Amino acid sequence: MKRIQRFIFTSVLIIGVSVFGYSQNKKLPNVKILATGGTIAGSASSATSSSYAAGQVGIQTMINAVPGIKDLANVSGEQVANVGSQDMSVEIWLKLAKRINELLLQSDVNGIVVTHGTDTQEETAYFLSLVVKSDKPVVTTGSMRSSTSISAEGPLNLYNAVAIAASEEAKGKGVLVTLNDEIHSPRDVSKMNTTNVGSFSAPIKGVMGGVFYGRLGFFREPTTKFGKSSEFSVEGLKSLPRVDIIYAYADMAPDLIDIHVKAGAKGIVIAGVGNGNMTEATLQAAKKAYEEHGVIVVRSRRVATGWVLRDNEFKDADYHTIAAHDLNPAKARILLMLALAKGKKLSEMQDLFYTY
Ligand code: GLU
Repeated sequence: MKRIQRFIFTSVLIIGVSVFGYSQNKKLPNVKILATGGTIAGSASSATSSSYAAGQVGIQTMINAVPGIKDLANVSGEQVANVGSQDMSVEIWLKLAKRINELLLQSDVNGIVVTHGTDTQEETAYFLSLVVKSDKPVVTTGSMRSSTSISAEGPLNLYNAVAIAASEEAKGKGVLVTLNDEIHSPRDVSKMNTTNVGSFSAPIKGVMGGVFYGRLGFFREPTTKFGKSSEFSVEGLKSLPRVDIIYAYADMAPDLIDIHVKAGAKGIVIAGVGNGNMTEATLQAAKKAYEEHGVIVVRSRRVATGWVLRDNEFKDADYHTIAAHDLNPAKARILLMLALAKGKKLSEMQDLFYTY
């Protein structure tokens, strides 16, 4: 009788252990994969079709498609959203950042990977880099080819992302972006090509590191404040103030700024010509937007790369404008939204663009 009891007890224990996941390899780090959609989760009707739908495949299917991933870490997935990243929103950002902060407080979570479409990946990564409060690695990744495509690169990118998130080397480096064997800092990286697998690059400061079938190394540290030393937080935030981006061009319509102010923008980023320039009439509209409505205008660039310098062709203070430094318009918008949410004044703004 005793033997039967012992047999039943042992069987229940074994079943319990495998069902409830205690079969994890204790020697391996635990990495959580938070999926948000994108081409890495996209599928097409054929392996050579150039048209496809993003955000179709669930996280478990993606994990199963990566050979050897379970030798790097104990991986488990959570579906936070499943959208093409053109539909990424402030609402999803806040949900994602809060979930990441919550998970990283757990002693049984060593690192996090976020799978994401490539269109707005740099924005999400930059946002997270300012509000994630942990030294544990958080790595975003995606792919340019859908999961059903010939030579899909998503599985290798995911493998590399898990290797980085599980590594000692990535600790304390803030949020990182990896695609195509490269490791990037969110502030510096941009999507530079609409279709190429080597689309992501950091033209001003270069890559932060490299990763090759899970073997990785870093060449430099991030150059601006992030993570635990950032003053920004998502605690208690339910939304962010509206900030719009206006693309500048020759003979730019002077009333564009007024239209955005009327629509409710609390801040405006200009994707300026050259070194963050715009027509004199638009500069006058920027001055009026601040003086009459308290709306702050930041000068970024429509040019793919380069710094926007303060007081370059005119004195910024004369128009109450802020220079975005090396931030592109989409990322300048994120910093301005977070700064406005924190109640930052015009006099404090320029420094933030040098610091973060
Ligand atoms: N628009 C899609 C997205 O951003 C395609 C880009 C991609 O993931 O490569 O999700």
